[in-house]
Parts: sequence; structure tokens; C-alpha cells
Amino acid sequence: MLRPILRFGDRVLHHPAQPVGEITGDVQALIDDMIQTMYAAPGIGLAAPQVGVPLRLFVVDLSVGHQSRDLIVLINPRFVERQGMQLEEEGCLSLPGFNATVARPERACVTGFDRDGREQVLEGTGLLARALQHEMDHLDGRLFVDRLRGLKRESIVRKVRRLSRAGRW
Ligand SMILES: [Zn+2]
Repeated sequence: MLRPILRFGDRVLHHPAQPVGEITGDVQALIDDMIQTMYAAPGIGLAAPQVGVPLRLFVVDLSVGHQSRDLIVLINPRFVERQGMQLEEEGCLSLPGFNATVARPERACVTGFDRDGREQVLEGTGLLARALQHEMDHLDGRLFVDRLRGLKRESIVRKVRRLSRAGRW
């Protein structure tokens, strides 16, 4: 089932999410819906808070469904290591129409659990490292605009407010 994707300004997106306690049937259904919603968008990542569920869980697929082995489901993830620096354009399904250059570590190592509760260790560089860090930020109530410096962030927030007032957000 497709779930509506919340946009910047919605409360759930701006607060830290809670750890997943048990991987229940509801959590499995949420994961299925998130994968479907990510592919339909289309996007390369989606975190549970983006569909209004304040749980620490996200999905990432750099191939957007074209390579099944690229699908990552990560529950209660945490960083093990981050290294280096990259500067690339970044966007977000919760901020459609906006992107900006965001500084991120070049390499990231994350651990967490897959949907069967097995522990996973994921290591990524470049775009994968960026996607993992972007989704980890969502779990902490942070969007990519929150990583921008004053003026750039202000300009995006102002445009969102204008769209919002016009009923187009
Ligand atoms: Zn995002």
C-alpha cells in the first residue's frame, strides 16, 4: 500500500524517532509499504518518519527497484564509523522541488538489523554513504536543509512557507 509522504513542516519529520521494539506484523507491513512508496515516488531512500511513523527504520535502494540485491532495510541503525568528506547535490522526497549541495562524510559504516532481525553491517562510499547518512538524519528529526548554512537554509524555508500559504505544499 502506498503511504502519503509527509513534507517539510510536518511535526513528525522534525522530532527524533523511537527505536523499534519488536519486528511485528505491523512493522513488516510498514516496511513493505515504505519500499512500495519509495519506488513509486521514485526515490532512493525513505525513512519511517517520512510516512508519519516515528520509528527508527529506513529503506534505501540506489537502483530504485532495478536490482533486488541493492535493497537495504535497516532497523535501529547506528553509525560505527564515518570518514572523509564529499560535497554533492542532495534532494529529499519530503522537500520536492528543492535541492542543495550538502557536505557529508565520504564513507560511512552503519550497523542495524534487517527485517528478519539479523544483525547487519553496511559500509558505503559516495552516493551510498550519502543516502545512509541522509536517512539516519531523518531518524534524528533532521532534514538536509538543517545541514545548510544560514542563508541557503533560510531561502528554502521561505519558499516552502510561501508555497504553504498558497496551499501548494
Ligand atoms: Zn529525505
